[in-house]
Amino acid sequence: MSIQSNWEKLYREAVQKNFPALQSVPGVILGFHSTIDGLKRVIPEEIERILANDPALEKEVCSRLDTVPAEVRTPADLLVGLASSLQKGKALQLMVREESTHEWIMEHLGYDTIRMGGTSGNMANSLAPLPLPQILAYANPLTREQAELFVDAQNLFVINQDGELQHPHQAWQGEGIYAIHWIFEYPKGLKLKLGDTVLETPRANRFIAAWNPVNNKLQIEANFMEHLPSLLDQFSHFIVSGFHILSETYPDGTTWLEYLRPVARFLRETKKTHSHLRFHYEFASIASSAIRKGIVDHILPTVDSLGLNEVELCAVLRDQGEEELARDIEAHSSMAAVLRGLERLADRTGLRRIQLHDLGYYLTLVDAEFTTGEKCRDGMLFAATLAASRSTVGKVGTEREILAGLDVPLADKAEARMASLAEELGSTDFAQTGIGTKNGRYVVFVPTKIVAKPVLTVGLGDLISSSAFILG
Ligand code: ADP
Repeated sequence: MSIQSNWEKLYREAVQKNFPALQSVPGVILGFHSTIDGLKRVIPEEIERILANDPALEKEVCSRLDTVPAEVRTPADLLVGLASSLQKGKALQLMVREESTHEWIMEHLGYDTIRMGGTSGNMANSLAPLPLPQILAYANPLTREQAELFVDAQNLFVINQDGELQHPHQAWQGEGIYAIHWIFEYPKGLKLKLGDTVLETPRANRFIAAWNPVNNKLQIEANFMEHLPSLLDQFSHFIVSGFHILSETYPDGTTWLEYLRPVARFLRETKKTHSHLRFHYEFASIASSAIRKGIVDHILPTVDSLGLNEVELCAVLRDQGEEELARDIEAHSSMAAVLRGLERLADRTGLRRIQLHDLGYYLTLVDAEFTTGEKCRDGMLFAATLAASRSTVGKVGTEREILAGLDVPLADKAEARMASLAEELGSTDFAQTGIGTKNGRYVVFVPTKIVAKPVLTVGLGDLISSSAFILG
């Protein structure tokens, strides 16, 4: 059998096995970040008009071009941040700190559409169409506007004010948008005139300005903390994410560490009293090396499993002084370097499972006592099918739509990648199974499917990691 048809067969079998397997998963908890994304296309004339009406603002923005503000306190900070992202075609995320500036953005730029934002909210909407019995999502404040962004599914819950599980559409309290993460999207070749300078975007990308005063210290809401313990017996998996919302310092003089520690304590204690729960932490792009290191030191020891992409892996390795290894991985020279990177991280943190996703493959390193190689691989294959289907359709849809993900072709380079790992592991059948062993761990590789013209890719990594973790 050719490698191609061998993997197509493994894919079909994994998907067949995992639909019923999902029904026997007791329940999944998703904390601690659901929010509202306000999508806004950048329209140069709109910004040029704002500046024409406000010469002082124009003067300040022009004088600060080529700088990047640490956060957004004033309208000028917002426009300077946007200009910087546009000019480089580089994604940039900044927190909005002043309520008056939030109001200014709302009044002068507004948004085109709102949609679910935040890692937990996105995971909830992507996992709810699957036959999982119950999913508990964290969302605070759960106003009517936030609640309406959750999909209508019988298996999706929040904790209501009485401490009971209830669908967000019934559990919301009050109305209004208290948090909004503006996503300013721009295409390649967009021209923006600022004074005498004309910026032109070298590629399509986005600039995010997040106003989230309730959550930017990652403080878990009191009602959720109080009632969660009595519900934990009904759940089996706890997926934690959203720490990219932390700032290094706050206007009141406090720092991220003051807020990370209580969350770590909460997770540690929950794990101690409910040892049946399996914890997963999903990394996100975090610009601050101090916060990344804090997560490695404080959060990773409290979880069993970690999910991350190749950029995040390199950032974490650099934080640990592994510059050369990070460079090897970035050079895409060999899969052996990627495996070494995961091993280094697992040795250092004691994590029992680490799953890396990259375009074209996923690679997981997992303790042999934690699961079986087949179960791990089949979970990853199911995740890749979901990712292919969601990229094609724009959402996780019906079982039929998910099965259509199987028709998406496998990425090229799969054979070379598997050959490199097979050699590293001294395994003869690795290209057929994707499963090898080393130092008491399984090394599990799956070649994935790539959708040539994806409809939606935001949040794909979250979906891949969460579904593979739950099943594997
Ligand atoms: P996010 O932070 O938005 O969740 P990540 O960068 O963590 O995204 O993960 C994106 C992952 O999605 C990639 O590593 C890749 O595995 C997958 N992916 C991206 N584009 C496609 C595509 N066109 N088809 C299939 N999978 C894709």
